[in-house]
Amino acid sequence: MITLKRIVKEYDGKQAGNKAVDGLDLEINKGEFVALLGPSGCGKTTTLMMLAGLLKPTSGEIYFSDKLMNHVEPKDRNIGMVFQSYALYPHLTVRENIAFPLRERKIPKLEAYERAKETSKILQIDHLLDRKPAQLSGGQQQRVAMARALSKNPEILLLDEPMSNLDARLKLDVRDEIRKIQRKLGVTTIIVTHDQEEALAISDRVAILNGGRIQQYAPPNELFNHPTNLFVASFLGNPPMNLVTGTLEEKSGNQVVVTNGFEYTLPEERKLNKLHIGKPVQFGIRPHDIAICEASDKQAIRMKVDLVEHLGSGKLVKVIDPQNKLETMIRLLTDNENEVSSRDNLHIKFKDAKFHLFDMTDNGRNLYQ
Ligand code: ADP
Ligand code: MG
Repeated sequence: MITLKRIVKEYDGKQAGNKAVDGLDLEINKGEFVALLGPSGCGKTTTLMMLAGLLKPTSGEIYFSDKLMNHVEPKDRNIGMVFQSYALYPHLTVRENIAFPLRERKIPKLEAYERAKETSKILQIDHLLDRKPAQLSGGQQQRVAMARALSKNPEILLLDEPMSNLDARLKLDVRDEIRKIQRKLGVTTIIVTHDQEEALAISDRVAILNGGRIQQYAPPNELFNHPTNLFVASFLGNPPMNLVTGTLEEKSGNQVVVTNGFEYTLPEERKLNKLHIGKPVQFGIRPHDIAICEASDKQAIRMKVDLVEHLGSGKLVKVIDPQNKLETMIRLLTDNENEVSSRDNLHIKFKDAKFHLFDMTDNGRNLYQ
């Protein structure tokens, strides 16, 4: 449906080589819901604006189906867009706002208003049609912006941080609703967000961007469980993945990650190619993949509790290595029943060998991918 090929965008006035988007390849299927996720300034909005035709790529090609779109005007792209600011026309009523894209297409007023009413019903704002944007709450304005984007039955819906101005509770409701409407209408949708929870919850696939490049493009579970590199691994997850600096070494036939705080012997089934021996690595493990265990456990690592945070649903326990306080710091999640308090010594182990190793000689590539 949508294909981006080696897209580069350099804004005028920026020094050469400073690319907002830097060789981006992306394919999106018809009816798919895709998120562009990444930190501020990584090129998400720029990419969306190029899809909308509001910006031209410096190089590369954009295709909708087999048609090259680089030089097609925005109004001829059959796209609906919701901007972060909503960009509603303040002097127009909700009805006129929703009907605006139809009127632009020379659809007669009465028909445009009738269709605006139909769309407003889908978004449950048909009782607000005579109001002006200033007379609406943030959530209602957001719906009007969605209705306006959908009124002309676009093939593609582009959403730029559409929920960033809503409070936490409303965000959840709106998120579910956007997903429902998208499914119902089958419209191919691309959402831009810096909110990982939002992206993972709502999308079929997520493209993680950093520095104008795609780091990984995959379904949410895949990204979370099989991050391709250190950036993706540390960007996703809350609380974030623990990362400990170490070296991969060979010791009496075993492969061992040696860190300042602990030594961890890789299980037989996760041994790596010998050519990686000696490499500096980051050992990564998520807080929920660590358990508190008995000292007698074969894999037990002795730690000291530094801090306990109550999350409501459980506790986040920060442990440090008893000897080497600053070097090794690990956070783990445990349930409320678990009695732990600061300065306790305890033992931890890594559950089900669910760790990652990132190759620091190769841009943090995950050695298991
Ligand atoms: P995001 O939406 O991911 O936060 P943007 O696509 O807005 O990122 O921006 C990507 C990069 O391009 C940033 O470094 C930003 O400063 C730069 N940029 C964005 N818009 C312009 C512009 N109109 N002129 C010059 N540089 C821009
Ligand atoms: Mg942006």
